[in-house]
Amino acid sequence: MAKPDFIYVDGAMVPYAEATIHVASAAAKYGANVFEGICAYEGDSGRSFVFRLREHLVRLHNSVRMMQIECDYGDAAYSEAVLMSLRENRIRGDAHIRLTVFITGEGYADARGPASLVCIASPRDRGPREAAPLDGKAAHAAISTWRRIDDAIMPPRIKAGANYHNSRFGMLEARRNGYDEAIFLTLAGKVSEGANSCFAMLRDGILVTPPVTASILESVTRATLLELAAAELGLRVQEREIDRSELYLAEEAFFCGSGHEIRPVLSVDRFPLGDGGVGKVTRRLWESYEAVVRGRNASRTAWLTPV
Ligand code: PMP
Repeated sequence: MAKPDFIYVDGAMVPYAEATIHVASAAAKYGANVFEGICAYEGDSGRSFVFRLREHLVRLHNSVRMMQIECDYGDAAYSEAVLMSLRENRIRGDAHIRLTVFITGEGYADARGPASLVCIASPRDRGPREAAPLDGKAAHAAISTWRRIDDAIMPPRIKAGANYHNSRFGMLEARRNGYDEAIFLTLAGKVSEGANSCFAMLRDGILVTPPVTASILESVTRATLLELAAAELGLRVQEREIDRSELYLAEEAFFCGSGHEIRPVLSVDRFPLGDGGVGKVTRRLWESYEAVVRGRNASRTAWLTPV
């Protein structure tokens, strides 16, 4: 990801190198921050859109509330941070946006403020979009021996930076063992999600994904794809518990998230899924998603915020 010239910090655009926080802050000492990863897309008309900004801001608000961060900012400031970061850096093509509330105050793990609002918008160079966009990011996945954090330990449904220590263990283990991605199980041994994305699979032609009570982040992309799968592709969709052994029998599977969009899973624990390539339904879902984010689907433009 290319570095932007300026980063939004508490209402002002600051040169990249000067956007720093103190080593004594609770953010640095305890990972006390909450954030959103959001994408902007260049539409075919040449206009750019932020995808599902409203839903990301609702989740950020929920994260701030759950973490009891004393934060004076609200929706207006969050939106301004995102749009200002894109505009002032003159980013017109695709972009990844990281919107974070940090506890810059010192103190212990119970510090609640003051807080800073920071936004980093980075241009995203995808190369020629047409060239096998899905195949290039397809992954071989392994079940992690680490379990996903649980609602009774640190709630995965909110997007707190500290939750990603759990993701880190899974990712590093998967890479060490020659895989691309980890799939976490819940404490109860049911399928949860990936290190930085949700998980879905196709069984008997039904699109199945773990419920929001399976120690997952309440993902914007997951909700989007469930809706598109049912409404645009006419698929049956199920949110239900998934057993580990079902993964080995899936016809297709993929990870999904704002950054990954759709990342096909070719194998789980070296069991190839389907014919071992990117599945047909996965491809159709991706085409549907791509049409929506680029403003080509007139019935879904309410999900787009013009830059
Ligand atoms: N789970 C985790 C742990 C994630 O980090 C992400 C990426 N934000 C997701 C799921 C997908 O969430 P979203 O679709 O809202 O980006």
